[in-house]
Amino acid sequence: MKYPNVEIDLNKLTHNVKIMVNLCNKYGITVAGVTKVFCGYPEIAKAYIDGGVTYIADSRIENLIKLKDFNIPKMLLRLPMISEADRVVEYADISLNSELETVKVLSKEAFKKGRCHNIILMVDLGDLREGYYNENEIYEAVEHIIKMDGVKLIGIGTNLTCYGGVIPDANNLGRLVKLSKDIENRFDIDLEIISGGNSSSLYLLMDNKPIEGINNLRLGESLVLGVETAYGNRIDDTYDDVFKLAAEIIEVKYKPSVPTGEIGRDAFGKIPTFVDKGIRKRIICAIGKQDVEIDAIFPLDEGLSILGGSSDHLILDGTESKIDYKIGDKVHFKLSYGGILRLMTSEYVKKKIV
Ligand SMILES: *Cc1c(COP(=O)(O)O)cnc(C)c1O
Repeated sequence: MKYPNVEIDLNKLTHNVKIMVNLCNKYGITVAGVTKVFCGYPEIAKAYIDGGVTYIADSRIENLIKLKDFNIPKMLLRLPMISEADRVVEYADISLNSELETVKVLSKEAFKKGRCHNIILMVDLGDLREGYYNENEIYEAVEHIIKMDGVKLIGIGTNLTCYGGVIPDANNLGRLVKLSKDIENRFDIDLEIISGGNSSSLYLLMDNKPIEGINNLRLGESLVLGVETAYGNRIDDTYDDVFKLAAEIIEVKYKPSVPTGEIGRDAFGKIPTFVDKGIRKRIICAIGKQDVEIDAIFPLDEGLSILGGSSDHLILDGTESKIDYKIGDKVHFKLSYGGILRLMTSEYVKKKIV
């Protein structure tokens, strides 16, 4: 086996997905399983499908292309670039949109290919990332889109707790549902998808306070880590260690806890500070900031603490550990969502699917 590697337990992932799909289905909500954190690896996405998601969703068209052989509707999460419109209509069945100019190009490309591309219009309920903020603009967009060839307006959606940290609630999601009804009435159309956000909307279901009218959620972090992300609570009967990192030890030495000499800047331009704890057992692993942020990884051995790192080195304090680590031993870590994202993206980190 090569190191560092991320080990991905598909049975645990499928289990998490089933728990979330059951919770959502209980309230008439379909799940779009978000694959971006693992770069759309098909072997891993298969666990989403086995777990019962209705859609596969990713922010990057490159990842949806990797998943083209799965017979399940695919959703592009990030607003399409005009320059990728041909690939979007080829490889995504649905895209989230907030610009009429872009939808026009999607319409043209889809019509050219004899396809029908489905549009979900995004509404900004105050988090200030993507979406129509002004309701009049969205009515205007709907009026144009329903007349276009090659595209079909199938719903509206929102994204919260991403830029502004705004928590989904009855007030903001209620506005989304009301807007969907207004659109249906005003234009005499049916909207089949009202997509009420990401893993930060799950707490509403866990608290048994679903928002009537929301019938879809786009879930990534909750599937992968078993957490809801509005308040950071763990979800019962799920795993938080589907993805685990293993790194190999390349040095073990007893050294002082404070550097010797005048202190300038570290490898990243910061002036470091130190607490004198005397001589400590210091362990260096062959992984660094080029692969992952050091605050995104958590040693499984609670006797280990992370001292710091540079591009290619991770320095641990092993003084308190019950394990007598030696050169060549492996150290294992749990991961945050950001940690999984970076590690899965790093070409230097092997992926070990079990
Ligand atoms: C990433 C993303 C999601 C999934 O978010 P999680 O917090 O991982 O559940 C949902 N919708 C959009 C638009 C996204 O970009």
